[in-house]
Amino acid sequence: MARPLNAGVAGPMTGQMEGLMMVTPLTLGELIIPRAEELFGHRAVIARVGDGVHRTTWAETCVRARRLAAALARLGVGPGDRVGTFAWNTHRHLEAYLAVPAMGAVLHTLNIRLFPEQVAYVVDHADDSVVLCDRSLLPLWRAVEPRLSRPRQVVVLPDLAADDSAAAQSSDLDYEELVAAAEPLAAWPQVDENAAAAMCYTSGTTGNPKGVVYSHRSTVLHSLAVGLADAQGLSSRDTVCAIVPMFHANSWGLPHASALVGASLVLPGRDLSPAAICQLIESERCTLAAGVPTIWSGVLDHWRRAKPDLSSLRFAVCGGSAVTESLSAAFEREIGVPILHAWGMTETSPIGSVSHLPVEPGAEADEATRRSYAMSQGRAVPGVVLRVVDENGAPVPRDGVTMGEIRVRGPWIAREYYRDGAPPDKFADGWLRTGDVATIDALGYIRIVDRTKDLVKSGGEWISSVELEGHLMAHPDVLEAAVIAVPDPKWDERPLACVVPRPEARGRLTAEALLEHLRPRVARWWLPDAIVFIDEVPKTSVGKFDKKVLRARYAPGETAAPLPVSEARG
Ligand code: ADP
Repeated sequence: MARPLNAGVAGPMTGQMEGLMMVTPLTLGELIIPRAEELFGHRAVIARVGDGVHRTTWAETCVRARRLAAALARLGVGPGDRVGTFAWNTHRHLEAYLAVPAMGAVLHTLNIRLFPEQVAYVVDHADDSVVLCDRSLLPLWRAVEPRLSRPRQVVVLPDLAADDSAAAQSSDLDYEELVAAAEPLAAWPQVDENAAAAMCYTSGTTGNPKGVVYSHRSTVLHSLAVGLADAQGLSSRDTVCAIVPMFHANSWGLPHASALVGASLVLPGRDLSPAAICQLIESERCTLAAGVPTIWSGVLDHWRRAKPDLSSLRFAVCGGSAVTESLSAAFEREIGVPILHAWGMTETSPIGSVSHLPVEPGAEADEATRRSYAMSQGRAVPGVVLRVVDENGAPVPRDGVTMGEIRVRGPWIAREYYRDGAPPDKFADGWLRTGDVATIDALGYIRIVDRTKDLVKSGGEWISSVELEGHLMAHPDVLEAAVIAVPDPKWDERPLACVVPRPEARGRLTAEALLEHLRPRVARWWLPDAIVFIDEVPKTSVGKFDKKVLRARYAPGETAAPLPVSEARG
């Protein structure tokens, strides 16, 4: 499996002298699990399961991972076999995060929010052998089973009391019984660092889910990067609350990084309500928590009402979609906790860039400049090479104005998809084409303007749907807003805004008021041609705005054609 010297390097030079450092493997069994076990065994792992809180340690987690590995081997799981997980963020899921890769098998985290057909598609596509399923999710899993090409052995993780689930079957095995019956594996096998450790399918915002396969090497290097001060700066002094699901993009790498650096890890289970999250952060004195903007806006609303003590947080890490100015400013000014804005995608493990304020002279001069950096997606983290390029692949000027597509490369960036190869719209000349359109400034800070497919192309010029949404959502009467392009005979495309008014503003908020609000903020030709008021913005399986659904709903020829601006009223 070893790749030749210079593999992946364009135009390698010949005749180089070989370095004389050890080539010890960058694997979980060599570098991650032993640290958690031997150096930080006393540090806490805390999981909310069912109605209670389960407290354990890294030492106990690692011993149970050794038992789990032995138990899975007894079930016939061998090197390279895929083990699916269908589970919330809990200590048992964490055990699988360690055991499955370290035993040489492949952890396949299944997104519980996909439709049953999509889950069945990815289970079959990855050819999972065994599926570890939370008891609370058995009803969902049972809807997947009839759609599978062949039955899979289910191992039930008891996150609820047995009689809480009517969905159990006699063929299911009990996780706790298996783990208790197995002797802990004495030593982890020698695994090639380029072997697959885990896989995760993209959520399919842009088509069929595609399998991203992380290697041991990419996982170890990504975990090291998460510990860098210019990334999340994770260390043994942290208590990390991983709100972002372990079934999507590896919970942003936090479980493996926490094990590596010896941070305490807090896992919220299935209750992701703002009150439950705040209660965990407060009671466990978390120093860092990570979630998508919708989580943090929920937390902000709750904080305004209940004032939980969140002062232990160094940062609220936020990514997955753009942070709005109102959220970023309110978090810092009202709660006193800065939002740390990060960008990435399933294909980038996922950390690509993080926004810390620059220290370069003048950069922190005034509040508006500071806010602009805080809201930017930041600079590429060490280990990621990032370019913003035009349609010919040439870098755009670093002027903070010119837009182009972000391309990245690096040791934790995917080079192809599992059994779907490297489609040219996603991979080109050794780079991952992210599909994200951004500007880059002189200091290397990127600001995502849109996804290529979401930009509104009007009269040959681009309108950023993300920017329009940000302005609309800053209006006090607006809860959510999504902007899509609708075909236009004269301009090719024009923006249509789908707006969810706050409950108290329903029936009162008018399209004219919103246009009035936008006028001083955007160019005239950016103003939406139509504004429709809706009850809710449809969301994807990972809580992002699902513009595919809105486009289908408001494309001409559909029954619900958009109302002209003047007729629309919330
Ligand atoms: P999918 O591609 O299946 O929607 P991902 O979770 O991989 O799922 O999403 C990655 C995408 O999310 C990025 O390409 C980008 O468009 C968006 N994204 C992630 N982080 C940010 C951010 N901080 N700001 C704006 N967009 C973001």
